[in-house]
Amino acid sequence: MTNETAAEPGRDFIRSIIAADIAAGRSAEVVTRFPPEPNGYLHIGHAKAICLNFGVAQEYGGRCHLRFDDTNPTKEEQEYIDAIQRDVRWLGFDWGPHLYYASDYFEQLYDWAEHLVRAGKAYVDDLPAEEMRAMRGGLTEHGRDSPYRDRPVAENLDLFRSMREGEFPNGARVLRAKIDMTSGNINMRDPVLYRILHTEHPRTGTKWCIYPTYDFAHGQSDAIEGVTHSLCTLEFEDHRPLYDWLIENLPVPSRPRQYEFARLNLNFTVLSKRFLTELVRQGRVSGWDDPRMPTLAALRRRGVPPAAIRDFARSVGVARANSVVDVAMFEHAIRECLNKTSQRRMAVLRPLKLIIDNYPVGAVEELDAVNNPEDPAFGTRRIPFGRELYIEDEDFMEFPSRSFYRLSPGREVRLRYGYFVTCREAVKNAAGEVVELVCTYDPATRGGNASDGRKVRATLHWVSAAHSLPAEMRLYEPLFTRPDPGAGGDFMADLNPHSLETLTDSRVEPALAAAVPEEAVQFERQGYFCADLDSTSKRLIFNRTVGLRDSWAKARASGG
Ligand code: ATP
Ligand code: MG
Repeated sequence: MTNETAAEPGRDFIRSIIAADIAAGRSAEVVTRFPPEPNGYLHIGHAKAICLNFGVAQEYGGRCHLRFDDTNPTKEEQEYIDAIQRDVRWLGFDWGPHLYYASDYFEQLYDWAEHLVRAGKAYVDDLPAEEMRAMRGGLTEHGRDSPYRDRPVAENLDLFRSMREGEFPNGARVLRAKIDMTSGNINMRDPVLYRILHTEHPRTGTKWCIYPTYDFAHGQSDAIEGVTHSLCTLEFEDHRPLYDWLIENLPVPSRPRQYEFARLNLNFTVLSKRFLTELVRQGRVSGWDDPRMPTLAALRRRGVPPAAIRDFARSVGVARANSVVDVAMFEHAIRECLNKTSQRRMAVLRPLKLIIDNYPVGAVEELDAVNNPEDPAFGTRRIPFGRELYIEDEDFMEFPSRSFYRLSPGREVRLRYGYFVTCREAVKNAAGEVVELVCTYDPATRGGNASDGRKVRATLHWVSAAHSLPAEMRLYEPLFTRPDPGAGGDFMADLNPHSLETLTDSRVEPALAAAVPEEAVQFERQGYFCADLDSTSKRLIFNRTVGLRDSWAKARASGG
């Protein structure tokens, strides 16, 4: 683990900053934190932030905290707190004893808010939200002072305490920092520090009815924990002056610094928790872990190994400028990883019966098959072969096109690990569909080679009709039809109606009876698959993790 995430210090601008801080003695140690708000599941974008925060801490022998930014009880739930911990662990990171909650600091934060009030640097504002927003001004227009801005300290203190005591309804008043309504930075125009929310909190229950804003909680939480480098995404760049102002104006125990890096954006993917929540809520997907979702729980269920996500995060790197990463790059990382780690198996997704006419009735042979050609340590297994087999329906064409080299009447092909077979007849049903192929085999080709040196142009995968197991296959396509979902104004309109295809009549080789979730296997010629969470020995269900080749390139080439 350490080896896999270790990187050359200084290889990106964050690591350069940290290296310089250490070299100059500005930081004696490196302390970072990953600060999710527990209002949804973690997604692949969060993985980038997790790999960065835990990664740099590891590289410098420091530590990384997991801190829940639980300051908005209206949207936060225990389910999310649990899921986030599970997912960070699954990704391969460990916060040790350093699990924290911003809510642990509510008392301290409240005291610091009073400190600002007493110093004349915060005031209680009675303006209705609408009016307050209007008076904040805009990019080209200064803000205007609230009529409550010059309230005497004693009155502010009294009102703020009354807010805490629950004497006012939601929205009646807020506590604001007193900074500068003419600042060019809107975040410095007397930002809200506390708001009234009569809502039960997952951790503090009904103890509080005022809650700190993200801006008031975040930097001070960092300071309490001794965070040295507070790494966050670019949208917080404009908040940094406020972050620094609060640190300057409060008697905090340490002075963390905030640095911003670019969010991960992926094409054909949406990484907004608000939207992902909507998908779940409206039942457009089966849940947060529906394998089409970009969440870590979904990727796990789909069969993506955590190492592939870490590799991907590393290959994306950490930059200061926003960009959109091609989802094909993510799939490439998954394939690279699974190619080395997954067992090979044979499965027929859309079966077509193949009968070997000259093979003895009732005979069964065990053929040796290689478990992973990349690594002999995976060993071999035996697969049963008999007179009746299934091959892939698309591996047969009655009237082959010029570039089709697989099975057709009169043509000879190789059955993987087995024999050469020649198709003698295609049997049809009343509707004229091919339902069965009658073939002959050459017993001298056992193992896949002819003694006379004759060649065949195709090798097909297959399973024994008598020994294979029925299985359901879930094949996934991107959840969105366009690379920039929502660009037309409505995310939902861009949902791909064909993002899930379910095949219920597939057949798999007997060894797959033991398939377990989270352990991807390669179905030869078909892609990487993984037993679904709902799979049982009575009803096998597999998810296609990813195809064998870049299907995006194929789609682009065919103009589709
Ligand atoms: P939302 O999607 O609702 O805007 P969020 O994803 O920012 O919320 P948080 O729980 O606040 O939700 O995120 C925790 C941390 O993960 C933050 O430090 C945030 O900067 C980082 N993060 C979130 N999304 C991405 C992303 N796409 N790429 C990199 N880091 C991200
Ligand atoms: Mg956020």
